[in-house]
Amino acid sequence: MPEPTSCCPALGSYCDRCDLLVGLDGLRVTGVVRGEDDALTVAVESEPAVMGCPSCGVVAHGHGRIEVRLIDAPSAGRPVTVVWRKRRWVCPESSCPRVSFVEQDERVARPRALLTARACRWAIEQIRREYASIHGIARQLGTTWDTVWCSIRPLLEQAAADESRFDGVTTLGVDEHVWHHVSPVRRGPKELTGMVDLTRHPDPKSPDKTVVKARLLDLVVGRSGPAYAACQKS
Ligand SMILES: [Zn+2]
Ligand SMILES: [Zn+2]
Repeated sequence: MPEPTSCCPALGSYCDRCDLLVGLDGLRVTGVVRGEDDALTVAVESEPAVMGCPSCGVVAHGHGRIEVRLIDAPSAGRPVTVVWRKRRWVCPESSCPRVSFVEQDERVARPRALLTARACRWAIEQIRREYASIHGIARQLGTTWDTVWCSIRPLLEQAAADESRFDGVTTLGVDEHVWHHVSPVRRGPKELTGMVDLTRHPDPKSPDKTVVKARLLDLVVGRSGPAYAACQKS
């Protein structure tokens, strides 16, 4: 049996296996700490590289770091915080309007985001596929309801505005739901109307048959008659 080897042999160097486990492309893991609450804090940074000023292209000078804390998707059931030690640069070109800048990577997180991009994707998948509530997602991420909702709301609005999901729909199902039984003043409208794609597609298992994969296309406030009429107009 081979001798067990340490995962991170040389202090101060990067470890391919830790990078693979954390899986944030473009960033290297420099440390992992497990807190008393079992949550993990993972420190990451980009590898040193020559950086050109985004405004003028002149090679910029390194100017320290700033630490950005991001809530990441859970790992093995534990909340994870990523601490990204972002590099900061100054542009040496005196005529350049950009005096200094901080590294950004939208694959990891949008500027000023509280959640990583993949934590947002994870949260939306939890809602779509696992019927998770915002409260449940917040608990798993170790954060608050407001933080989760503010992070995913723009992405959900973007998805709702994307009309490509209506492409190829030939059969539409309309379904009314009574959403709650308490005062509409306290919780908003009681009735919602769902529009469902009931288009038949060829059955991959038997080519001479067709199947329906029901797909929710939209939810509209109100009962089906007025809601459906309003949708057709818009
Ligand atoms: Zn390692
Ligand atoms: Zn510049």
